[in-house]
Amino acid sequence: MAIVVLKLPNVKRKTETRPKKCPYCAGHTFQRWGQVNKPVKDVRVRNVKVYRYRCCHCKRTFRHYPEGNTRADQTERLRAFATLLWSLGLSYRASSLILSGLRVMVSFMTIWRDVQAESQKMKKRYQWKPVRVLGLDGAYVLGWGEKQPVLVAVDLGTGEPITVGYINEYDSQAIIRWLRPLVQQHGISVIVTDDLSSYKIVAEKMQLEHQVCQFHVRRWVGKSLKELQETIPKEWLWVVEEVRQLLDVLHPEGSQRLHALWKQLPGRCSGQNKSRSAMEQLRDLLLRLSRDWHSYCTFQSDPEVPWTNNATERAIGRMKMRARTVRGYKSWQGMLSGLMLAATYPH
Ligand SMILES: [Zn+2]
Repeated sequence: MAIVVLKLPNVKRKTETRPKKCPYCAGHTFQRWGQVNKPVKDVRVRNVKVYRYRCCHCKRTFRHYPEGNTRADQTERLRAFATLLWSLGLSYRASSLILSGLRVMVSFMTIWRDVQAESQKMKKRYQWKPVRVLGLDGAYVLGWGEKQPVLVAVDLGTGEPITVGYINEYDSQAIIRWLRPLVQQHGISVIVTDDLSSYKIVAEKMQLEHQVCQFHVRRWVGKSLKELQETIPKEWLWVVEEVRQLLDVLHPEGSQRLHALWKQLPGRCSGQNKSRSAMEQLRDLLLRLSRDWHSYCTFQSDPEVPWTNNATERAIGRMKMRARTVRGYKSWQGMLSGLMLAATYPH
């Protein structure tokens, strides 16, 4: 059950404070130059009092808005509220309809723009934020009648997505191009992923620490071991059992031990054109686990690294829930912005 923490911006009807500096020349002295009643779109306030000032230095006049107001018709609070309605799963039209029930007339196109603006704001807020451990995971979303691959990047310190890219997670070159500026901006030093080979290439080429999600590893290795248990000669069953135990405790010496086991096993016995025998499959498994072992254990020496990629999967879950009702995107940029917002709220 998602809990929504509602913190909408405050909106004041008038302001007691004077402007701090002139928006044109940064001068500090002003004369009051009249006032206007500005009608606004908001759930509680219908109009606000706006003072005009004249700068004593450059002689230009400007408006000084009360908190929560800008030159736009909508207040900051309404903008946030409309965005929230949308991110809870309503369509743009339904969000507009709910607001009209509160006697606030806002077109669905305006709400679309609000969502886009909010997402941009979020991205900006995150632009230079330090992120040490980054979760990466691919997903498919429905866009223009087809499944489109996206890659979601989540700050594992906070569980918040920092960006969503139109990237296929099997394409290591594309991931590297996309990830490089992020690594520089945020100072990322560790990635947490499932164990697709593309992510291994990324971690290696970019010299990032790597933690492979242990839920994924346990799932596929568990399945392989179960199959091998039925097919390999009985005298080798103890090897399967030992691999299972090594994975259970993620022993720090696991890599060397697996390598030793691999050496102990008889070599290739079927011809090149035949399918691999059960013993060869076991050998391959031992070698692969031995090679990747260090990326299973990164979390053991770094308390900030989680041992699964669950936080990223949760963000994708929120995004998918929202994406089901997402329609009317005109551009990829628009769609990615919407998805990013959806992955953030509610949580
Ligand atoms: Zn001025």
